[in-house]
Amino acid sequence: MSKDSKDRSFSRRKFIKTAAAAAAASGTLLTISADGMWKPEPKKRRKGPSHPDPDVLLVNGRIHTMDPDNRVVSSVAIKDGRFVEVGHSRKFREGDETKVIDLRGHTVVPGIIDNHNHFVLMGNRPGYHTPLENAYSIPDVQALYAARAAGAPAGAWITTIGGFHSNHIYANPADPTSGRLPTLAELDAAVPNNPAFIEIGFTGPAVTNSAGKAIFQAQGITVADNGSMTGNNPSRALLFLRQTLLNPAERRRSVLDAMNYAVTVGVTTHQDQGAFQATNTPSDGSAHEDNFTMHIPFLETYAEGNGIVRLRINFLHMESDPNTPELVQRLKNAFPFFGDDMVRTGGIGEFIAQGTNAASPFQAAALKVAQAHWRAEVHSLGRRQTPASPPADFEQEITGFENANTAFPGVVRDQRWVVAHVPGITQEWIDRLQAIGGNLSLTGWQYLAGNLPTSTVAPYAGPPFRMIVDSGNRADGIHSGMSSDGMQIAPMNPWLHMYYATTGLNTRMVQINPGQQITREEVLALYTSRNGWFLREEDQIGSIEEGKLADLVVLNGDYFSIPNEDLKKLRSVLTVVDGEVVYNAGVLRWHGDDDDRHRG
Ligand SMILES: [Zn+2]
Repeated sequence: MSKDSKDRSFSRRKFIKTAAAAAAASGTLLTISADGMWKPEPKKRRKGPSHPDPDVLLVNGRIHTMDPDNRVVSSVAIKDGRFVEVGHSRKFREGDETKVIDLRGHTVVPGIIDNHNHFVLMGNRPGYHTPLENAYSIPDVQALYAARAAGAPAGAWITTIGGFHSNHIYANPADPTSGRLPTLAELDAAVPNNPAFIEIGFTGPAVTNSAGKAIFQAQGITVADNGSMTGNNPSRALLFLRQTLLNPAERRRSVLDAMNYAVTVGVTTHQDQGAFQATNTPSDGSAHEDNFTMHIPFLETYAEGNGIVRLRINFLHMESDPNTPELVQRLKNAFPFFGDDMVRTGGIGEFIAQGTNAASPFQAAALKVAQAHWRAEVHSLGRRQTPASPPADFEQEITGFENANTAFPGVVRDQRWVVAHVPGITQEWIDRLQAIGGNLSLTGWQYLAGNLPTSTVAPYAGPPFRMIVDSGNRADGIHSGMSSDGMQIAPMNPWLHMYYATTGLNTRMVQINPGQQITREEVLALYTSRNGWFLREEDQIGSIEEGKLADLVVLNGDYFSIPNEDLKKLRSVLTVVDGEVVYNAGVLRWHGDDDDRHRG
């Protein structure tokens, strides 16, 4: 390393510290560390030869098991990837091979299960994708970008493609510059030597810095003086980045980055809901990918033993052809729920066909999925404005489910069919779906950009958490579970979704979901034990019980008692998946650790 580059890296480190200190002073919390956010390489997952001792003993914690009795215990023992003892009986004692972790009173919850997200898209992002879902100010963005660039190769693109909103960058409501993207100059200050590209949602708006602007302009892409990109320029830029940056090795690196981020916020199982089929034209947005190749870097990562979170893969089919030929072939030639505990296929979703009305292939597609005895998962974003308005999408979907269930009795209950998001669903339609045994996937995505609707039928931004959870508490009540619907329209961070479900407040702290709040205990159950059922894995994941797979998250605060605003700052300090420590923030140390970094 030349003196020159040493000096540069020193001043960059200094910048990171300054920016982090500024962010800390403004009352925000950053998850960066001096050596970068996703720095630790995941360990090869290993299953050692059997010995009589537990592999891991966690002691002195407040471990919320989320089991049927809601037990809170202080210790658990883990062996061969499963919980072998939950509670205080000390049947298992420390042996030579045991890693004993003193939790020092920290709160522990089961590994978070996200029943509907787009994790596979996140693992196929071009450039060094940098989640901005935990940034609350321009200095936060600058600090995250500087830290990311410090851990990336010289000149690498630093990118953020979806998963946040400028509403979110809103540290001070009195500041008129709040609620906007950073400018070209602000990005230059953070990453002077790397091109940068930040895009909101599916198609922008976006912003770049000077280095990025020069590269984009050479491609005929229009960038304003302040770095802003509008119209179809963000999508043209994204296509250029995909075509020039993505290759198999970069996709695998991006997969590891996505997994390493997930474990910092405690999401240990992801049910992926697919992508819109890429066309390789500027009409592709951030949610487009090739549905037939995008899983390859994930499968390679698992085959190499480097997968550190669980992935469940749904197949998205969105055909307008009334014969839905691709769906027909999928049902004939693929296996649902095939794989192992780490990576496994799921059902058809979050689309089974294009559209939902009578003229669309939806009803016929539902019958085909039912006939094949697969699970169908569909999404709803609609609501009725008045009782006389035309049917909303969820009404057409639930009607289609009823018809499929009549033709193939019991299929909805047996295969656990799902309607997701449902911001505008009403009690009448909850009851109809409950009657055939269907399930609802709930999400807090309105948190980022939602507003109070003018509807007289469903006058809440939704989903109506309170109405749905109450319906689930009745005899044979409706099943539901929680999801993020990240990574384009919403953040992955589950604590933000729990904030929205329990407060009804959007990013600008406006109440948009009046009367529909649920308790912290209820939303955590939706994200853990109830999602175990949701994934048909209720005997494997979702709670801390003897015999179940050992996934848990040690938190940096007491989820159950901290003030509402502090929910946004909750992070993992230690994440265990399949009995392995896959993330360690350095807060907890233990005797017997084979990694010197963590020795006290
Ligand atoms: Zn989705």
